[in-house]
Formats: sequence, structure tokens, C-alpha cells
Amino acid sequence: MSSIATNLQELQQRIAIATEQVRRPRGAVQLLAVSKTFGPQAVLEAVQAGQLAFGENYLQEALDKIDALQALAPGAALQWHFIGPIQSNKTRPIAEHFDWVHSVDREKVARRLSEQRPPALGPLNICLQVNISGEASKSGLSPAELPQVAAQVAQLPGLRLRGLMAIPEATDDLARQHAAFGAVRALYDRCRADGLALDTLSMGMSADMPAAIAEGATIVRIGSAIFGHRSTQTTRS
Ligand SMILES: *Cc1c(COP(=O)(O)O)cnc(C)c1O
Repeated sequence: MSSIATNLQELQQRIAIATEQVRRPRGAVQLLAVSKTFGPQAVLEAVQAGQLAFGENYLQEALDKIDALQALAPGAALQWHFIGPIQSNKTRPIAEHFDWVHSVDREKVARRLSEQRPPALGPLNICLQVNISGEASKSGLSPAELPQVAAQVAQLPGLRLRGLMAIPEATDDLARQHAAFGAVRALYDRCRADGLALDTLSMGMSADMPAAIAEGATIVRIGSAIFGHRSTQTTRS
């Protein structure tokens, strides 16, 4: 078995254990394999091991990879999730080539994605990114501005608002991890109480996955634990 296949198997096991420990149903947490900086061959190995959902941060790199995989794995039901910062003049290729976008943090970006989504593809799945730890360097909506933007985005015809995404401050302190993910969960519950039909909490990375699962994550976004250490931002295979 390739090391990518072994890593995926171990990770699925860890997800199953963390899910079971907090008595959530088996299959409640989906794995998004973050393949940024890794080339098409690495993605193909993951596909051959049964992984179909991939997360990408850098637009041009992602578009090249999506193309390459169409040739390498024709007919595979791959799902591409955009999880990186979005420039508002680069929304069209995202609307045309992705199934999900996790990193929407402005109404303007959402409006453009909605207008540019080809109707034949069906609505684009959206998570709103929340800056839960209030770090100035991080993108994301503040908790205070979230409800209004969520209500607006939910009305856009080319989109389907699915939930929230967060990247809390990096910390080894488990209590702080739980507090941050719990705060995202509370915002999610509040949006649902306001009448939004959300079903997705995208939170948890290689370093903080169990806390995210305990607080209700439905998608964990994992890169290095599958593909290995990222040395640069340049694509390699
Ligand atoms: C890179 C990245 C990940 C994966 O991080 P790892 O530490 O490699 O698991 C998850 N989410 C986002 C938004 C990322 O940019």
C-alpha cells in the first residue's frame, strides 16, 4: 500500500474513534483531503485509496490539478472544495470549477459567485468563514456581522448556504481548542434557530481534530497527516 493510502486508513480510524468517543453517529464526520502544494500524482494515489473530496487553497494550482485529474481518473466522482482566500476578481473560475467554497467572508464575493455559477452545475455549496479567535491577521467574518451576512447569502439563487468554516488560533491547549470550536458551534446553532437550513461545520485540522469533532465538526480538513510535510508553496508531485 502507498504511504498516502496508509495515512488515509489511519486517519479514518482516528476520525471514527473521535466520533464514537462523543457518541456521534458513525459517518457524521467527513474527511476533506487538503492537497495544496501536492501534485496530481499524490491526489491520484488518494483517489485510488477511495478518497474523493479534496481541498485546495491556491486557485491556479487547483485549476491545473482539476484538469490533470480529469485525464488521470476519468469518470471518478471527485469533489473539489476551495478553502483559500478569495480575491473578488477571481470568483468566476471558482464558480465554474468547484463544488464547494468554504472561505466566503464577504457578501460581495458571495454575490459574484452566485451570478457566475453556471446554472447547469446546480447551486454552489457555501460555508461562511468566521474569524472566531479575533486574530487581526486572519480572514473571516466577525461573529457580530455573521447573522446579517448569512441571511443575505442564503437568498442568493446560485448558492446553497451549507454552514460555517473556522480556523481558530493554533494552540496545544485543549481547553482553548474546545472553547473556540464550541463558539463556532454556538454561532451555527443560532443561525439555525434564525431559520437557516445549515448542515455543515467545517472545522478541525491535523493538530486539533478531536476537539473539533467533539464540538460538532461535520467536515475536518486535513493535509499534512495524509500527504506529508509541506516544504514550500510550490506544486510538486
Ligand atoms: C492547509 C489547510 C488545512 C490543512 O492543514 P494541515 O495542518 O495540513 O492538516 C486545512 N484548512 C485550511 C484552510 C488550510 O489552508
